[in-house]
Amino acid sequence: MELCGETTELDGETREKEKDRESVERNESRGAEPAGGPRGVEQQVEGERQNISLRGRKRTRNEEKWTRNVNKRLKNNGKPYMSSRGKEEAGKAIKQTCSEKCSLRCSTKFNEEDRQTLFKQFWASADRRDQHHFLLRHVQELPVKRIRVGSEKRTTTFHYYFYTVSGLKKEICRTFFIHTLDITKDLV
Ligand SMILES: [Zn+2]
Repeated sequence: MELCGETTELDGETREKEKDRESVERNESRGAEPAGGPRGVEQQVEGERQNISLRGRKRTRNEEKWTRNVNKRLKNNGKPYMSSRGKEEAGKAIKQTCSEKCSLRCSTKFNEEDRQTLFKQFWASADRRDQHHFLLRHVQELPVKRIRVGSEKRTTTFHYYFYTVSGLKKEICRTFFIHTLDITKDLV
């Protein structure tokens, strides 16, 4: 790995992405613990180190870059991280369910264990594109069933779904969706 500079680094990156994808797939099929975490970060740091000796850039600048990359990855994985201003930021965590009055009765469809699995599935990949695809697979824009004549109301509305362990698609409300994944409201 030390012998072939640039190429090695690219390969490393490719492998890293492959691994992310694999871990997402594994998680989706088995609901297991995400594998991309700390080990992935270590590998990335290792790659950056090689970078320095090969290109002979200033060490301090590269150190900043590793820290930035490591923190970016932690953040995108929903883990606690250090912000660019040096502030410790908390990781993502599942929020409470929707109200008992919810007409979709979301809590009867997914229990706390299911929610943990869904949360892990979403945050298993630090790749924003994977997360975006997850959202695309779980949110659907559908026409409103009853449209009042002459009203300026929206003609479509968003529907949110999660899949059960056995692969059944169940509709849940937006609150339940957002709170289970701990994502910001403007994402969906
Ligand atoms: Zn609900």
